Amino acid sequence: MDAKSIVCKLQSSGLLRSQAFIGGKWTDAYDGKTVKVFNPATGDLITEVPCMGTKETNDAISSAYDAFRAWSKLTAAERSRILRKWYDLLMAHKEDLAQLITLEQGKPLKDSTGEVAYGASYIEYYAEEGKRAYGDIIPAPLPDRRLFILKQPVGVVGAITPWNFPLAMITRKVGPALACGCTIVVKPSEFTPLAALAAAELSVRAGIPPGVLNVIMGDAPAIGEALLASTQVRQITFTGSTAVGKKLMAGSAPTVKKVSLELGGNAPCIVFDDADVDVAVKGALAAKFRNTGQTCVCANRIFVQEGIYEKFADAFTKGVQKLKIGEGFGEGVVLGPLINDAALHKVETFVEDAISKGAKVLLGGKRHSLGRTFYEPSVIANVTGEMSLAREEIFGPVAALLPFKTEEEVIQRANDTNAGLAAYVFTENMQRSWRVTEALEYGIVGVNEGLVNTEVAPFGGVKQSGLGREGSKYGMEEYMEMKYVCLGNLSA
Ligand code: NAP
Repeated sequence: MDAKSIVCKLQSSGLLRSQAFIGGKWTDAYDGKTVKVFNPATGDLITEVPCMGTKETNDAISSAYDAFRAWSKLTAAERSRILRKWYDLLMAHKEDLAQLITLEQGKPLKDSTGEVAYGASYIEYYAEEGKRAYGDIIPAPLPDRRLFILKQPVGVVGAITPWNFPLAMITRKVGPALACGCTIVVKPSEFTPLAALAAAELSVRAGIPPGVLNVIMGDAPAIGEALLASTQVRQITFTGSTAVGKKLMAGSAPTVKKVSLELGGNAPCIVFDDADVDVAVKGALAAKFRNTGQTCVCANRIFVQEGIYEKFADAFTKGVQKLKIGEGFGEGVVLGPLINDAALHKVETFVEDAISKGAKVLLGGKRHSLGRTFYEPSVIANVTGEMSLAREEIFGPVAALLPFKTEEEVIQRANDTNAGLAAYVFTENMQRSWRVTEALEYGIVGVNEGLVNTEVAPFGGVKQSGLGREGSKYGMEEYMEMKYVCLGNLSA
């Protein structure tokens, strides 16, 4: 089926929505303005969505605020049943949702299908976990007192998400927020609002009450400002660039909101001489090229020890050569286009900078003949710490190889960055794996493994990669406040 027929099919299934979702109603921007949503692989217009701003955001906040009272009063089991139904619907529409993600984001259909299952898993997980939002009882220091900790939902949450995982970055926030009784205003990226709107449509079918989940989009700074300014919004949860995350953190100060941030990374992937080369190549390929290199946990700097450097570089480059690039609906395609021209330009500039400073192109190193925003899967050798490829997030299908000599040296170089999200270590030496893992200043470490994401584990970074965790039992804490209750005078 071609992209145009898929659009028609999605329109008739009701999953391709072109309006925002406020207080249970499908809504246009109040001034009628729209933003165009394009297929990055073809440049075709998919649809237009509302370009909203302050007024619509304030209405979405009011809806969420009004809905909070009833939603937070439901029992955890009642909320769980509704969320479970939403999960079932997301999975029942896996194919439609995956096609929508490929259309708006460009990733291969197989990866989009994986994202739907991964994204839905957060709804399933938190449907269960909501029932386990336990408080605590503290032994009292006086005989006539009893001390309790209640866990209560924080209130209205403002969630801002990026384009690289149009569904999963939303469910990772909405799942725990709704499970513990919060209500939420979600702002997806203007590049990929359609999966969020489809998920909202399925939330209606699942019985999530009006106002509990609101989805708005448009003027990002205006929407951000309105969420920050509101005293009714008690928490901001954001996934995106470190620069915007810092702005949101600063903007949360006047109203002292809770802040959860999932920001950019600069992941080191360390391959020691004693690594199993096949395992390291497989792991590094997965860690580097997932979503065409556009993930926050992508292996950004592949450090390879001198003794294995040539062998690894050769095997890795052969592996990259086999990666088929093309439109996401194409047979056997594993890499798609970059999201837009700005992303393409950034990758191009980084590679030019590296070449001008002495790096060697082993493969690719230029735009792809497919045109548009396709970039050749590339391997760049002899990268040094002075090059942009090593200092900043590449966010494209370019692997940077950096030789190193000693364990001590590589730990120092791996930590020499403000980022601290994910790191990867490849070694067959157990003692070394522990030593290095403990020394790495990162929130996530994959040892002999390149794919680390799962809803049951805490995802998040240290240093300037973020605050808080998503997924697992820890992810729920972000959306709850602790209330200490002192019951006194028991003996009277
Ligand atoms: P981005 O430019 O920061 O955008 C993220 C979101 O913030 C989008 O919805 C964007 O809206 C919105 N936004 C932009 N400026 C804003 C402002 N002034 N106020 C409020 N909202 C604003 O990041 P991106 O390019 O979409 O995503 C890539 C980045 O996300 C990378 O750095 C990546 O590492 C990071 N990321 C981190 C994680 C993690 O879990 N740590 C996961 C995925 C991605 P518009 O798009 O509508 O402009």
